[in-house]
Amino acid sequence: MNGKFIVGKAWEIIRTNEVVVDWHKVVWSLKDIPRNQFILWLAFRKRLETRDRIKKYMNILDVNCPVCIVKEESIDHLFGECTFVSKLWINFAQNMNITKFPLTWNEIIKLVKKRAKGDSFYANVFKCLFRALVYNTWRERNTRIHSMNKRIEENVWDNIVSDDNILIHTWRGISINEDS
Ligand SMILES: [Zn+2]
Repeated sequence: MNGKFIVGKAWEIIRTNEVVVDWHKVVWSLKDIPRNQFILWLAFRKRLETRDRIKKYMNILDVNCPVCIVKEESIDHLFGECTFVSKLWINFAQNMNITKFPLTWNEIIKLVKKRAKGDSFYANVFKCLFRALVYNTWRERNTRIHSMNKRIEENVWDNIVSDDNILIHTWRGISINEDS
């Protein structure tokens, strides 16, 4: 500007203007395990390497979901309609007192954004269980590709709950009786 270099103006030009996402607080929290947050972030960004994505850049023999082996694997399938994750969602809904739980990943995301608002004990438990469920589903999917060790839904759910119980005991400054 007038022959002068202005840092602020240069920054405005070179920075990438990322769209502000409305699920930021669902994904990131200091109260949770980074690996669970990272996998959820990839899932929300649709960046997890599911087979529907892989087949676009390489030939693969099997495009089916490694967990249920019935339908083509995609993020929407793996976290929504897959029979494996559906059983985990039933447990999740019961634990979180949700009577009507959606059946598709897109609808689940909408519900989560609504329920996960605020910093109450409920909202934090809700978010941690949700992240752990997504992480453990992805982990189970990878395990089934690379080894014969399968875990059934009940065992995966027990792991999710016991991990979150340990986590909750590390929290400070959140009252269990808090409502909002
Ligand atoms: Zn499946």
